[in-house]
Amino acid sequence: MRLDYLTIFPDYLAPLGLSLPGKAAARGLVEVHVHDLRGWTRDRHRTVDDTPYGGGAGMVMRPEPWGEALDELLGQDPHPATVVVPSPAGRPLTQALARALSTRPRLLFACGRYEGIDQRVLDHAREREDAEEVVEVSLGDYVLNGGEVAALAVTEAVVRLLPGFMGNAASLEEESHEQGLLEYPVYTKPSSWRGHDVPPVLLSGNHAAIAAWRHEQSLARTAERRPDLLHASHVAGEWEVLPAA
Ligand code: SAM
Repeated sequence: MRLDYLTIFPDYLAPLGLSLPGKAAARGLVEVHVHDLRGWTRDRHRTVDDTPYGGGAGMVMRPEPWGEALDELLGQDPHPATVVVPSPAGRPLTQALARALSTRPRLLFACGRYEGIDQRVLDHAREREDAEEVVEVSLGDYVLNGGEVAALAVTEAVVRLLPGFMGNAASLEEESHEQGLLEYPVYTKPSSWRGHDVPPVLLSGNHAAIAAWRHEQSLARTAERRPDLLHASHVAGEWEVLPAA
């Protein structure tokens, strides 16, 4: 998978060389390119923003540098890119969206700043044949200063789903949100710590009992913390027939 990032703060994306994406790049699973949007400006001050038409507070990112950057970058690869635009007005980042993005050969992140990017950049990108799709993605119902943190979050959620990335693919299947539930609580050694014991079933060696306990814990946790997920999940009926704890 090829990953491109367009930003006016390339240093903000330095963590891409670390940890998970860094490991994926070292294994040849992803190819990472970070670009400074100001490289596509033409004035002495390398201006990327201007005042909003219609008035109001703040500045808006001008369309020209974005247009020229997309012209150059989208043409660079035989695969049409999916353009990912972090935005508080986008669709929420979910595991399902991360999984869908993980199947794309190329993602190009357009990281906005100020009051956002001139709308025509997105409208024009949606008309382009070298862009597979334009997806606006929100990290949540709050406002960040820029799209870089969101681009990092989307990257991390996507890259760990790439085939061959996780040593043990089974560990992905049981994770929170993968089956529509939160994951059960996890424990490691020692079996007793500061007066808190590991639940005995986990020490029993009885795999069927352990699987049943974990499933029950997942359901209970989801019901308590995120009932909205349970209602949306196919296991909702199952929860209703579980005995009270
Ligand atoms: N004026 C915009 C609004 O009210 O929708 C907010 C602009 S915000 C200060 C600047 C940039 O940060 C956005 O263009 C977007 O790229 C990014 N951003 C802010 N909040 C975000 C969120 N919840 N999810 C994803 N990106 C976000």
